[in-house]
Amino acid sequence: MCVRSCFQSSCLQWAWRTAFLKHIQRRHQGSHRWTHLGGSTYRAVIFDMGGVLIPSPGRVAAEWEVQNRIPSGTILKALMDGGENGPWMRFMRAEITAEGFLREFGRLCSEMSKTSVPVDSFFSLLTSERVAKQFPVMTEAITQIRAKGLQTAVLSNNFYLPNQKSFLPLDRKQFDVVVESCVEGICKPDPRIYKLCLERLGLQPSESIFLDDLGPNLKAAASLGIHTIKVNDPETAVKELEALLGFTLRLGVPNTQPVRKTMEIPKDSLKKYLKDLLGIQTTGPLELLQFDHGQSNPTYYIRLANRDLVLRKKPPGTLLPSAHAIEREFSVVGTPFYVMEYCPGLIYKDPSLPGLEPSHRRAIYTAMNTVLCKIHSVDPQAVGLEDYGKQGAYIPRQVRTWVKQYRASETSTIPAMERLIEWLPLHLPHQQRTTLVHGDFRLDNLVFHPEKPEVLAVLDWELSTLGDPLIDVAYSCLAHYLPSSFPVLRGFNDCDLTQLGIPAAEEYFRMYCLQMGLPPTENWNFYMAFSFFRLAAILQGVYRRSLTGQASSAHAEQTGKLTEFVSNLAWDFAVKEGFRVFKEMPFKNPLTRSCHTWARSQSQWYPIGTRSYSSVPEASPAHASRGGLVISPESLSPPVRELYHRLKHFMEQHVYPAEPELQSHQASAARWSPSPLIEDLKEKAKAEGLWNLFLPLEADPEKKYGAGLTNVEYAHLCELMGTSLYAPEICNCSAPDTGNMELLVRYGTEAQKARWLMPLLEGKARSCFAMTEPQVASSDATNIEASIREEDSFYVINGHKWWITGILDPRCQLCVFMGKTDPHAPRHRQQSVLLVPMDTPGIKIIRPLTVYGLEDAPGGHGEVRFEHVHVPKENMVLGPGRGFEIAQGRLGPGRIHHCMRLIGFSERALALMKARVKSRVAFGKPLVEQGTVLADIALSRVEIEQARLLVLRAAHLMDLAGNKAAALDIAMIKMVAPSMASRVIDRAIQAFGAAGLSSDYPLAQFFTWARALRFADGPDEVHRATVAKLELKHRI
Ligand SMILES: Cc1cc2nc3c(=O)[nH]c(=O)nc-3n(C[C@H](O)[C@H](O)[C@H](O)COP(=O)(O)OP(=O)(O)OC[C@H]3O[C@@H](n4cnc5c(N)ncnc54)[C@H](O)[C@@H]3O)c2cc1C
Repeated sequence: MCVRSCFQSSCLQWAWRTAFLKHIQRRHQGSHRWTHLGGSTYRAVIFDMGGVLIPSPGRVAAEWEVQNRIPSGTILKALMDGGENGPWMRFMRAEITAEGFLREFGRLCSEMSKTSVPVDSFFSLLTSERVAKQFPVMTEAITQIRAKGLQTAVLSNNFYLPNQKSFLPLDRKQFDVVVESCVEGICKPDPRIYKLCLERLGLQPSESIFLDDLGPNLKAAASLGIHTIKVNDPETAVKELEALLGFTLRLGVPNTQPVRKTMEIPKDSLKKYLKDLLGIQTTGPLELLQFDHGQSNPTYYIRLANRDLVLRKKPPGTLLPSAHAIEREFSVVGTPFYVMEYCPGLIYKDPSLPGLEPSHRRAIYTAMNTVLCKIHSVDPQAVGLEDYGKQGAYIPRQVRTWVKQYRASETSTIPAMERLIEWLPLHLPHQQRTTLVHGDFRLDNLVFHPEKPEVLAVLDWELSTLGDPLIDVAYSCLAHYLPSSFPVLRGFNDCDLTQLGIPAAEEYFRMYCLQMGLPPTENWNFYMAFSFFRLAAILQGVYRRSLTGQASSAHAEQTGKLTEFVSNLAWDFAVKEGFRVFKEMPFKNPLTRSCHTWARSQSQWYPIGTRSYSSVPEASPAHASRGGLVISPESLSPPVRELYHRLKHFMEQHVYPAEPELQSHQASAARWSPSPLIEDLKEKAKAEGLWNLFLPLEADPEKKYGAGLTNVEYAHLCELMGTSLYAPEICNCSAPDTGNMELLVRYGTEAQKARWLMPLLEGKARSCFAMTEPQVASSDATNIEASIREEDSFYVINGHKWWITGILDPRCQLCVFMGKTDPHAPRHRQQSVLLVPMDTPGIKIIRPLTVYGLEDAPGGHGEVRFEHVHVPKENMVLGPGRGFEIAQGRLGPGRIHHCMRLIGFSERALALMKARVKSRVAFGKPLVEQGTVLADIALSRVEIEQARLLVLRAAHLMDLAGNKAAALDIAMIKMVAPSMASRVIDRAIQAFGAAGLSSDYPLAQFFTWARALRFADGPDEVHRATVAKLELKHRI
């Protein structure tokens, strides 16, 4: 593509050119005003720190509270508590140490919020380099003030850390006077501190201006005769200061730095070229700076004879074909380039827009949406751009282009990229519209007005062409799905959008459609999948260039390695889109949703019901996969239905008959060794293809590891396995292995899969998951304390865990361990997951715990100490700080497997109860004729049906929309299933009489596990809290 010099007219230049002219006019008006107000008598400017030179602790606290789920306003309230004698003010005056302050302050915050408040983490954030950084606008202002011969001073507080080191985040050389409250023992608003400062400056109060964000501090200064400026935001305050001082404080160019060594360009030839082109007569120098961003194409600021310009050029070296579409008739600076006018304004590099009010953030995103609509509304023909790109088939061409780009820079096989390369061409949308498209439309490519949410200019047009505009909409939503720690392209998927005020991606799409007068975009998941695919291809290119030393950013190598992460995100969207299409295919079998009854009697010995559907015709092959909720096994697809019947037969032939022997093994002295009968049955199940049925199709679309069932399909089979306590293990479908295997499939490296996943899939090894700790409330996973510390090429873990299911099993080879790598990181980024081989020295099993006296041998539930356990670094899953994310993913489908099995427990209990009450007579009639018994049977049937429908609905939603979208349904069924099963089993036990409590029947064990699952899968209350939260969030 050829973008011509900006000095020729084109519609691309029009928007920013107009904005630029407007801005220049405004700037000139502004400077007029300054000249009139000039000649001030001020001789010094005194600055407060927090909220003036660096972000205010209040603002930092507000965002930290949101991220850490601390009641809003807690920190601020605690900072102000006690006034002059509160911990904060005493700390400021250094009357207490940093440790003492943190202790007192932590206690105060916890009392106020009635929850534990990790103030250490807040303090670390407050004093971190990321937050405690001087606002560039203030740095510029201070430079200008001093250049005009005025003095500067700062009134700072206590900037000493617990280690007694000062971290004052300022260059002291910027100030003539620095007054630190902790050194002087006095603090604002005590008038003495202002007097001290003036004394050191050698000035009268009226000769100085004081800037602060807090009213009482300003009031105290004003009462002495100092002129004051209230700082609400630094930009506006600097303007006010400019007005008072009578000269401009903004001469620098934001977001620039001296030209990087490897990116230097010949100034002389450039100057000559520009002088000729612009007809400038000047002997003055050409000022050259480099913009911080512009990863692929280095971008420079040029000032020549009062002209502010921007030059963008191709990077040096051999490039991938058409990745850097910048061309110019001839090359003056080594590679092709173009030049445009400089448009001053604000560029928001962090898409979460820190420091802004929620309404302001929303306005920024709305403005972004509006300008995109404006670009897409340009009539290419009317502005002479009808030949700006090829007509039609834009998306297929884009897919081909980016596949080609990716292949050209490929360094190793990435499974998700391979899947996408096959999937994308098969799911192309029918293109509806062709407009001008920007091709790289992101927040940080927009220049905003400094005072209002208005876009002044749109940058980076290299990828612009004619094409499908929805590409731009999707691309501008990438940040919604990327974490804030993502290098190159920061995201905010770990932030609460409602609190931030930023519209969710879906809303952003809707907003766009509404403004453009279009129907809602149904297939936007395709566009998201493609956008992430494209980003992955770009990252791969950056990575490849980093290998040949051409990348323009030092982070290139690191970012390129993120290709795999981004391609997995792309694949998640592809899966969602696939299910959406499935769902919309016409139903051939409208009766799939019909009610069903339990009929036909069952085997005399193992009274398990058969669900049959007299009203439902045999399911057609079109069946379940068409998206209807399949509520009966008979409506499953023929292959899955056949699998179901094979499993049922297997249960009747092999599993139920083995139960007495398996049960007595568990009570014998040999119980801590696996039962040989189990091992024998495992081989039989494997031979019959009743193996690894659990892994959802969505996690394993190629059926590489499992049977490739959807969650709904598996729900029916899992329920059937749940009718026996032993069947899940026999079919290699038991927890905690299932969750761990899924974790490895989703997040494991190829080496981790080879070492751990394969033996688990083969049923040769077992595993455990170690999160819960005796000393902290582990239902809140962020509480866990076990430490994971880096030491040379190892991670060293120390911690005390308990209730670790399966850890006592001699076959247990892998412990998936959750601990903290960084206790000072944001709350959900502290934890990491490590794969710990069970034979590593330092793992000390203290004892097996019992559940109502049951040991659950041979796996058991162990209390364990990990003492200086050295684990190779390559055993980290995904990377440090990703533990919470992994735990959430691990507990996705695994979470509802327990619920599916609980339906099985309940069905078996009810079947046993019915058989029992029919055969026993009391007070002259069979028990089944007692009204209370009948009522119990009826209640149990109804409760089972209700819970099953909810399980199936959750599974169905997981299939159609993904685990995240099904969060409410998952929490609902986890709330419902264990209690329902407890009630149903309890009624069966009651009907059995004392025999129900014995181990002659599975009822007592069913009851025990149903009760235990009200903790093991997270306490009921936590699920209730989730349901309530989502209910309040989405259904007001
Ligand atoms: C049989 C069994 C097997 C287990 N297997 C494993 C395993 O393999 N690996 C592992 O790491 N852990 C395992 N666990 C532990 C289990 O995950 C924890 O018991 C569970 O997360 C609760 O943590 P806790 O016991 O520390 O209870 P706490 O967190 O101390 O909670 C105690 C109680 O506080 C209340 N509560 C908590 N949060 C809220 C809230 N938000 N609102 C209202 N009330 C609340 C609830 O009543 C809760 O029961 C197992 C537990 C059992 C019983």
